[in-house]
Amino acid sequence: MRTSGDLTRFNTLGLNATANHLVTVSTLVELDKALHEAVVSEPIEVLGGGSNVVLQPVIEGTLLHVAIKGRELRADDGRVAVVCVGAGETWHDFVVWCHHRGLNGLANLALIPGSVGAAPIQNIGAYGVEVAQWIRAVHVTNRYSGERLQLSRDACEFGYRDSIFKHEAGAHWIVTAVEFALDRQAVVQASYPSLRARLSDAPLSHDAVLAAVMAIRRERLPDPVVTPNVGSFFKNPLMSQDDADVLARHQPGLPIFPASEGLVKVSAGWLIDRLDWRGVERNGVKVSDDHALVLIGCGATSATPWLALADDIAKSVESAFGVALELEPRVMGCTAESAKS
Ligand SMILES: Cc1cc2nc3c(=O)[nH]c(=O)nc-3n(C[C@H](O)[C@H](O)[C@H](O)COP(=O)(O)OP(=O)(O)OC[C@H]3O[C@@H](n4cnc5c(N)ncnc54)[C@H](O)[C@@H]3O)c2cc1C
Repeated sequence: MRTSGDLTRFNTLGLNATANHLVTVSTLVELDKALHEAVVSEPIEVLGGGSNVVLQPVIEGTLLHVAIKGRELRADDGRVAVVCVGAGETWHDFVVWCHHRGLNGLANLALIPGSVGAAPIQNIGAYGVEVAQWIRAVHVTNRYSGERLQLSRDACEFGYRDSIFKHEAGAHWIVTAVEFALDRQAVVQASYPSLRARLSDAPLSHDAVLAAVMAIRRERLPDPVVTPNVGSFFKNPLMSQDDADVLARHQPGLPIFPASEGLVKVSAGWLIDRLDWRGVERNGVKVSDDHALVLIGCGATSATPWLALADDIAKSVESAFGVALELEPRVMGCTAESAKS
């Protein structure tokens, strides 16, 4: 379906934005048609649930809302099951669907808003688990040539909140489906501090982890349906263990977590908290009282105040600790002034 679209209900910040051509695609045939009809010289953008984007007022060209559904069991050896899921499926519903079938691995990622197709884009992660661990392949279509391919997990170059899809080499791919290899005998992952604390002495099981993760998230994170937010506004900065040790010497208590490729990540929320940002409100955007890494909306309807507050926070952290913060959500689109007429 092709419309010229108001995107207010397509993003969890509830920002006012307009797409020149908004097309919802529910099948591969519809996707091919939309790509064929897109104006060659104009950009093609992709949106799932809109829970990790900051929309500028104008999205030029074609904006594809990927709504391709379907869950298919492709293989099952009695222990590991390969499930292929449409990019437009809701992530949390898929997690629960797997859990009810004893297909384990995803419980720590419960209640992350958004679509299955966006999960590989930033390699969603929570409570000690990243989705990359359970991905077998990502089905993609080239947004400019229409070429289709299946990328192996290695080809996706997953990292902390990162993948090839965020870089030039992979930015042209549209995810149409994701294949997961889920293990009925997967080890229960309960070592993340807040999860371990919540589980206390309870017997470890995937059931217990799912329930605990959902309880913690409901307590700590604002529901985007009620309060505009995109979860964490900044990534946790990556650095060498030596640099983190030096920082921690000056900032005793700084949480440091393991990351890949010999790096560690330090808690951005803790650094922001040290500078007393919690509760600060400016122009309809506020640093959450409950979580310094989360910005919440209290009236702002454009991207400008969100980005201004984020910029001020990042500058203060850089100046106080010498640590550069990177935005986690993607800023998409342009201002009305810079849009082509
Ligand atoms: C309350 C809350 C809590 C959150 N907690 C977490 C968390 O614990 N861990 C975490 O990692 N994230 C978290 N997030 C962020 C967000 O939920 C995830 O990043 C999610 O995967 C985004 O899904 P989406 O469908 O809404 O993507 P969108 O916001 O629609 O898009 C995000 C990016 O992915 C691209 N994209 C989307 N779909 C496709 C596709 N089919 N093909 C190609 N590109 C695509 C978009 O172009 C955009 O660049 C949280 C957000 C909120 C609001």
